[in-house]
Amino acid sequence: MNPTKVLVVEDEVIVAQDIAGRLKKLGYIVTATVASGEEAIEKAAENRPDIVLMDIVLKGEMDGVAAAQQIRTKVNVPTVFLTAYADETTLERAKITNPFGYIIKPFQQQDLRVAIEIALQRHEIETKMQQALKASEAAREAFEEKAQRQNQYLSMAAHELRNPLTAILISAELLELDRNTEDKSQVKRLNFLQSATKKMNQLIDDMLFMGRTESDEFKCHPFPINLVEFCQDLLEELQLGNEEKHQLVLVSSKVTSAILDQQLLHGILANLIVNAIKYSPNGGKVTLELDYSQEDGGDKVSILNASSESLLPKEQLTNVKYSGIIFRVRDEGIGIPETELGKIFEMFYRCNNTGKIPGNGLGLTIVKKAVELQGGTIACESKIGIGTTFTVALPYIPLSSRT
Ligand code: ATP
Ligand code: MG
Repeated sequence: MNPTKVLVVEDEVIVAQDIAGRLKKLGYIVTATVASGEEAIEKAAENRPDIVLMDIVLKGEMDGVAAAQQIRTKVNVPTVFLTAYADETTLERAKITNPFGYIIKPFQQQDLRVAIEIALQRHEIETKMQQALKASEAAREAFEEKAQRQNQYLSMAAHELRNPLTAILISAELLELDRNTEDKSQVKRLNFLQSATKKMNQLIDDMLFMGRTESDEFKCHPFPINLVEFCQDLLEELQLGNEEKHQLVLVSSKVTSAILDQQLLHGILANLIVNAIKYSPNGGKVTLELDYSQEDGGDKVSILNASSESLLPKEQLTNVKYSGIIFRVRDEGIGIPETELGKIFEMFYRCNNTGKIPGNGLGLTIVKKAVELQGGTIACESKIGIGTTFTVALPYIPLSSRT
């Protein structure tokens, strides 16, 4: 290992010579002995020492603290301060520069070695930590850039798929008009074609939505909504596609209107209600509850975020406080296995008990995203064979606050 190079900054010539002599005896190389802060900066840049031994009080314009600061910024060389009885203000300033060590004059040869070695080690650790931080920051940026690019490709592919798919859907609808109702297999094939294309269409819509929300340009468009009317219309729309096996019920109290992004809200509630219907194959009641809670003053939504929330033990879940506008979607369906509750919001995740019930595992990812984009939170409680309840809390902006 090369001997450590030390720059000595001391304006008392005799003291400087004494320090340099002691350093040499300890096996260090003294690159230079200078008397002022300005010279110290110059020599540090010229000789690149491993460490600077700096008197705090120096004659001239610049004191040791200011010189150490500049040396650290310009050439990243650590400083150990030498001090006799510096005043409080100077010591405080020295502390702010985060020095690598102090030696109080008069000092022993051994003190010098200990202070230098500790300072060098600390500097090495800090430099490595900074390098590691820089490397991880660069890796994160590269990862985000790659994710962004993949996202763009995905969105482009989804866009490209849309046109041929619409053509297939229209052709299927035209064929349906001309179909031979006697020919059962033709009817079956047509139905199959139509439902397959509709599913693909939904998948493309979901992918495009995910792509849009991941891009930086995505913005919420909050607008006044009559919530009761909105929920009633939504339930009617969903009841149309449903074979009466399920009873869709709206329970509303207190809150009637608010300012929210209508499209995002539709996405959230439609996905949750479609799930509630889909995962109750034996039918039953699906309830959409509309509520308002003022826990914590009502000005912020205070539920934990979705993934960590669903990992909470049940007894804690029931004690969780919500605030804002609360939407609860309750069903009496198959339920979600406790061990899988923490995964349901992951992209493409489907639980083990779904059997033949169709799905892509994207709905809840979209719901969670749409909730978070509005500053809200989502939670889920479920019991196998009993049913599931999703609770969404969105920040409440009353209509009167709109100017
Ligand atoms: P997609 O919504 O994309 O058509 P999906 O319904 O399978 O497909 P998600 O809505 O993301 O996907 O739901 C993820 C999984 O969570 C489901 O596959 C199902 O296992 C479970 N799940 C969601 N909602 C319920 C519910 N109400 N009851 C029981 N299980 C549910
Ligand atoms: Mg779904």
